[in-house]
Amino acid sequence: MNINNLRDIVGNDWVITKRDQMESYLVDETAPAVRPKPAENVIVVKPANSQEISAILKLANKDKSPVFIRGGGTGLCAGAMPIIDSTVLSMERLDKVIEVDKDNLMVVVEAGVTLEKMLKAVEDAGLFFPPHPGDEGAQVGGLVACNAGGARAVKYGVIRNYVKGLEVILPNGEIVNLGGKLLKNNQGLDLLQLIIHSEGILGVISKVIFRLYPKVSSSGTMIITYDNRHNAMESVPMILRSGVMPLAIEYMDRTVIETSAEYLGMQWPATQGIAYLMVILTGANDDEVYLQAEQVSNICTECKSTDILIAERKDEQSAILKMRSEIYSAMKDKTADILDVTVPPNSVGVIMDRVDDIARYFDTTIPMYGHAGDGNFHPHLMNDLRDKGKVREVKREIYKEAIKLGGVITGEHGIGVIRISELDLCLETKPWELMRGIKNVFDPNNILNPGVAIL
Ligand SMILES: Cc1cc2nc3c(=O)[nH]c(=O)nc-3n(C[C@H](O)[C@H](O)[C@H](O)COP(=O)(O)OP(=O)(O)OC[C@H]3O[C@@H](n4cnc5c(N)ncnc54)[C@H](O)[C@@H]3O)c2cc1C
Repeated sequence: MNINNLRDIVGNDWVITKRDQMESYLVDETAPAVRPKPAENVIVVKPANSQEISAILKLANKDKSPVFIRGGGTGLCAGAMPIIDSTVLSMERLDKVIEVDKDNLMVVVEAGVTLEKMLKAVEDAGLFFPPHPGDEGAQVGGLVACNAGGARAVKYGVIRNYVKGLEVILPNGEIVNLGGKLLKNNQGLDLLQLIIHSEGILGVISKVIFRLYPKVSSSGTMIITYDNRHNAMESVPMILRSGVMPLAIEYMDRTVIETSAEYLGMQWPATQGIAYLMVILTGANDDEVYLQAEQVSNICTECKSTDILIAERKDEQSAILKMRSEIYSAMKDKTADILDVTVPPNSVGVIMDRVDDIARYFDTTIPMYGHAGDGNFHPHLMNDLRDKGKVREVKREIYKEAIKLGGVITGEHGIGVIRISELDLCLETKPWELMRGIKNVFDPNNILNPGVAIL
């Protein structure tokens, strides 16, 4: 794109052309071994508002010039990376929390607001935004574009469930508003839901309206230890059937969580067992949480847990969540690829066993953790597989096993760039044809995030 035209739109200071000033805009959090190489000729532009984004996209569309949308850059599948010569459109200056509407229980935010900033604004207003994907540096536009999940999805579901309104800028520069502060809306086809998890290929999300909930009054975090993973996994459907609906049920191998604790200079409170469940309970008061904790304890004891710890203080609970959330950061340097497989919840134990079999066959170790209550887990393929040139082969074996169990190759991180080459394993051809048709309606010149998300 013409640099002077971009400067006319956003001002001199907000167009970066020097490579050494744009390094952090060229990569995201994808594991280095599978991360594609960024293109050579890249411009970074930082618009301040929707009108400037619209003007940039009109220019790009006229020139048929590719644009990659960049949120917080915490994505794990290279979706925000400029993989061909292009312009990176950074959303960081759209960073205003416009309104916390206490009467309608909604928050209105610009898309470049980070999760951390929005959570604080919501909490300051005495309200609660339930989803919590692990990296609070993610921007709300990125969370919506990826339909992020995270640990708290068991009780409240993924980001999609909270988006009520969007302002979206189409690839031709038109600005459209979808939905609003509405809890019911059956007007026309649901384009809002189509934009959610479109991974930036249909439009730039510039504003979001999220639904909020009252603050939870009381919570407790349980760590339940086991001598083997089967017993841990056996507990999960029993907890879900019992009528207790935890905020989160997370599984982690001991090695994985201890690596995270060490990385953070913290102490993981459990000392027994090799397999852990972390269960977060919430309720209207402490008694309600205790009652749920007792029910969960009984189930886990029946499933041969070896120890049960309960953190009640807020700081203890935050520390446990922090260690869980930072597992990926702690293991990233040793990781060749992090997978994001999802199977029906009652098959998590089965697929984990198959992953163990695959690991044995390829003479490696595949540490695992994940959102056990959602059937979504993250096997880490380690650098020894990279050194043996086996990452793709192992990954595809795991994907095939997940698909056999009725699963998918990504539950929350998305397809981005790095999973495109594995899509031959999943879905029939017709859905891809329909998706390409939809992309063509929104973006006939294929300027937005080309090469991302669809075949
Ligand atoms: C330590 C760690 C923990 C994580 N934990 C979780 C987790 O628990 N659950 C989970 O689901 N994910 C998790 N993630 C992945 C990541 O945080 C999410 O995918 C998040 O949604 C990405 O948001 P972002 O703003 O960083 O987007 P980016 O990485 O900048 O972009 C991701 C994709 O969204 C598009 N995009 C970004 N902003 C917009 C916009 N305004 N309009 C249109 N498209 C846009 C980009 O083009 C790209 O395709 C984790 C990542 C890390 C590093």
